[in-house]
Amino acid sequence: MKKLAEVLRNWEAVIGLEVHTELTMLETKMFCGCRLSHDDEPNANVCPICLGMPGALPVPNEKAIESIVMAGIATNCEVMRQSMFYRKHYFYPDMAKNFQTTQGPVAFVMHGHLDLEVTGNGAKERPDGTIEKAADGSYIAPIRILRIHMEEDAAKMVHVGGAEGRIGGASESLIDYNRCGTPLVELVTEPDLRTPEEARLFMEKLRQTFLTLGISDCSLENGSMRCDGNISLRRRGETAFGTKTEMKNINSFKSLHDALEYEICRQAEVLEEGGIVYQETRHWEPSRRRTVVMRVKETADDYRMYPDPDLAPFDLSDEFIERCRARVPELPDAKRDRYVSAFGLKRADAAQIAGDPKIASFFEEAAAAVKGKVVPTVANVVVNLLPGRSVTAGQAASLATLLAGDAITFAQAREVLDIVEGTEADPEKVVDERGMRQSTDTGALEGIVDEVLGRCTDQVAQYRSGNKKVLGFLVGQCMKASKGTGNPKLFNQLLAQKLED
Ligand code: ADP
Ligand code: ZN
Ligand code: MG
Repeated sequence: MKKLAEVLRNWEAVIGLEVHTELTMLETKMFCGCRLSHDDEPNANVCPICLGMPGALPVPNEKAIESIVMAGIATNCEVMRQSMFYRKHYFYPDMAKNFQTTQGPVAFVMHGHLDLEVTGNGAKERPDGTIEKAADGSYIAPIRILRIHMEEDAAKMVHVGGAEGRIGGASESLIDYNRCGTPLVELVTEPDLRTPEEARLFMEKLRQTFLTLGISDCSLENGSMRCDGNISLRRRGETAFGTKTEMKNINSFKSLHDALEYEICRQAEVLEEGGIVYQETRHWEPSRRRTVVMRVKETADDYRMYPDPDLAPFDLSDEFIERCRARVPELPDAKRDRYVSAFGLKRADAAQIAGDPKIASFFEEAAAAVKGKVVPTVANVVVNLLPGRSVTAGQAASLATLLAGDAITFAQAREVLDIVEGTEADPEKVVDERGMRQSTDTGALEGIVDEVLGRCTDQVAQYRSGNKKVLGFLVGQCMKASKGTGNPKLFNQLLAQKLED
């Protein structure tokens, strides 16, 4: 098969995502009072309502509707005051009622958008003319959101003893209804995404937004956030859409990217050989890096959708909508911009920190404990030194202060972290106790610099004739002469000063 870059020269990929997110932060299910928990004994959290016993009456979870309205406001959607629940019928044991309660043509929130910042790195030109490409190849991709609707999750099934986990090959199938009835939010994008990278960025941004709203733990790994990728190709310059396939079983950002990449290349091959793409659902197999057919697409008629007679239509009040609006916290983009303007952080650092609410609050706590000019160093520490470590905000603040004052080097900061991680120890004390503090006494350092310059005449001549790289060697000599106690950054500055004279 051809490579993606080559395929995209002749073909334009058209991608739309359907993203399911479980509202894991709620206490109870969507239409009953059963506890929301996946860790309990199988089938511990069930009742006549979520098992669909005759006569049991559902009651909508108000907090779930609050969450979905907040999700809509955060993604620039319009809140639809009037909507209702429908029944979507199908037969499969993961839903004992034989229908899923979901929303019909009108969802709680509709017609929004998320704007993606696609960096120049590997970005492809978007052909639809809506995008201003910057000199470095970066662009803004506005991705429209068709709707976000409320539905309920199905039970979890485990097929035991079978080939590739398929029910046909399994000797036994187990059903856990704990997940059945979990409040599930489905977001559907318009087919506005053009590359696997854009699709990955969209999911990332959506996850950051939902995490910040605090409505879900958004774990792709554990399935609380799941995504189906719809994809078709059309020749460059054409306006009509081609036939799409839908890909399921995508449980990581990387899988989403790789599955779309594979499917783009596969469809291009089919079309270039004069074949046709069938509208079908395909399954991504990460281990074999390919998609395989799961089933041909069912049509909407098969589901026999109609309004649920047990659930009254909604008429959301102004007061309810305003309450939801007030509960939307500062979102990642706004937070990023504030970090840049208020603290002078690098945009990339600010974006990374603002994208995760846990990291953002850790950063803000550490930043509050240091002097203003040290805050960018706190960000540097958070982004580059702390991932995968467990330290307190106080320790991060202390470490950043040491680094900003040139008392330790970056390499030493890692050593200090190895020592203080998981303890209460203060980095500043550790540095002093172990005599790690770098000398910033310029008088003493100058002496060393003069000694080294006097001795390394060859390198000095090379530097002066334009080979600036020898500076690194000279810094090394100074460090050696100071037995590692001098500050390399200061040596660097002093050397450069003296050599430029
Ligand atoms: P279906 O009826 O098959 O579920 P929808 O019209 O509901 O299809 O769209 C489902 C998803 O597929 C949406 O995210 C939409 O943006 C996307 N989509 C629709 N048509 C195409 C297409 N031709 N190519 C790629 N994606 C598409
Ligand atoms: Zn229940
Ligand atoms: Mg659909």
